[in-house]
Amino acid sequence: MSRKSYRKGMVKVAIAYPAPARIALQSLSIHILGRLVDEDPDAYPDFVFLNDEMGRTTKIRLKDFDIVLFSVHYELDYPRILRMMEINSINPWSSRRSLTDPLIVLGGPTLMANPEPMAPFADLVLIGDAEVLIPSLLNNYHSYRKDLGKYIDTPGFYVPSHGKHTVERVFVKDLTYSVGLIHDTAISLRTSDEEPVLGRSAILEVMRGCPRSCLFCMESFTQRPVRYANINYIKEIVRRDVNDGIIDRVSLIGLSVGDHPGFRDLMEFL
Ligand code: SF4
Repeated sequence: MSRKSYRKGMVKVAIAYPAPARIALQSLSIHILGRLVDEDPDAYPDFVFLNDEMGRTTKIRLKDFDIVLFSVHYELDYPRILRMMEINSINPWSSRRSLTDPLIVLGGPTLMANPEPMAPFADLVLIGDAEVLIPSLLNNYHSYRKDLGKYIDTPGFYVPSHGKHTVERVFVKDLTYSVGLIHDTAISLRTSDEEPVLGRSAILEVMRGCPRSCLFCMESFTQRPVRYANINYIKEIVRRDVNDGIIDRVSLIGLSVGDHPGFRDLMEFL
């Protein structure tokens, strides 16, 4: 999946997903993670999946990587992540792993809400937006490798083996880069012989977070503060895609897109 060739000395990063490839590859988030890793000239990403319910993995073994990155979206994935480590001969308990094992890094919405259930199994838990945290993880790894104590002062990094400590959640302040990243990643996944899952659609993230803050809603808390994409930029992308003849519909992403202050303007434009 990398757009570059592997060179000796590159940091090998597994984007691991505890589901069969046919399910995992439908997740836009793993492709976005892959792109973020691939943007580092000295890092080489690859996907590793669970192939079937028996727990076998794809041909590449997690042990062959320097970093294994799990983006966790559901609590039900927790046991499958541990299973994936076990069948790759990686001890799920962080305290029982050695320096020859890959760095196990977990992130994603459920862990942002509460990292503790998975803390004993993670070397690092990332708290915040991937667009900031992945470059930060790779920069740190180039310098610190598996010296976990050195990661503790980096915003957004929880190092469970160093006990409870305050972690500053990091987030992108301006969504412009993220809007382009998500849109371009979705377009790049299209193949000529398959109808895309969301049709010939421009996938556009118009907001992150939700101003309503319903008390039962995990997403609105983990995605704070509320950020709105620039509507003129969204319009510019739609205009360009229509001119290029590559879309016939638009999908707006956000927790409550109707709350975007420019929503009416955007609807009239569309
Ligand atoms: S996303 Fe929905 S449930 Fe969550 S805070 Fe916003 S309105 Fe409430």
